[in-house]
Amino acid sequence: MYRGRFAPTPSGPLHLGSLVAAVGSYLDAKAHHGKWLVRIEDVDKPRAIAGAADTILKQLETHGLEWDSSVLYQSQRDLVYQHQLTQLQKAQRLYQCDCSRKAIRARSAHYDGYCRNRQPRTSPYALRFVNQNPVHEFNDRAHGIITDHSATVSEDFVLKRRDGLYAYQLAVVVDDIEQGITSIVRGSDLITPSFWQLSLWQELIGKQPQMMHLPLIMNDDGRKLSKQNHAPPIDSRQASQNLLIALDYLDIGLKPEQQQSTTTEILQLAVQNWRKKWHITGR
Ligand code: GLU
Repeated sequence: MYRGRFAPTPSGPLHLGSLVAAVGSYLDAKAHHGKWLVRIEDVDKPRAIAGAADTILKQLETHGLEWDSSVLYQSQRDLVYQHQLTQLQKAQRLYQCDCSRKAIRARSAHYDGYCRNRQPRTSPYALRFVNQNPVHEFNDRAHGIITDHSATVSEDFVLKRRDGLYAYQLAVVVDDIEQGITSIVRGSDLITPSFWQLSLWQELIGKQPQMMHLPLIMNDDGRKLSKQNHAPPIDSRQASQNLLIALDYLDIGLKPEQQQSTTTEILQLAVQNWRKKWHITGR
């Protein structure tokens, strides 16, 4: 059974770029007659903006994007993440690293495994994953085979940060596995972390989900539309129009007269177009 998800970080309201990821993951789940879950990625508690998670959920509802099971909040899952770290520690797949960013950068462009065989003497320290079988290739449903043999992909990435927070790479994989996610559909800015995450999937359960990375929306100066570059929030009073714009970016544009349609009608048509575009067959 297909299970997909949308996993926004609540650092602000949805903008057009994040709406595209939401719509793409929703359509793919519905086109497969699967479930679509929503997870609030507030593992980085200091970055979460008060009220943003509720705003995002309301925006999704206004756009007719209804999720199938209760929303999971990463901020409530410290014990689960800690349990997983303890397991990895027992399996000797973690080590302490007290290198500062500056020290790492002074040595190399990526983390060079400096602390793998060394007992750091100073705290605070991060916990790094012994990435001994890095994934260098995966079959992406939109891009085909993606290969990366760079040292970055083989790096021993951080699972618990020096500031004591659980790292995004750990939270996302632990949650995707626990939520039974079979397909991850998200923006192409996450291709590099996908290699790390797939290595961790492989380590934890010996299998990998399907991946699909969607096109990113660029602003006028060629940078990705994001909260960091102050992308404006979508206006929920124009939900149908916003959906049509998102569908254009996903290359399954509907006719402009559909602006008069409800969000439900638009999404139903879009599911059919998505099935055609990606050759999804079955019931
Ligand atoms: N929380 C991430 C973001 O908002 C997305 C993570 C994911 O889809 O895996 O950029």
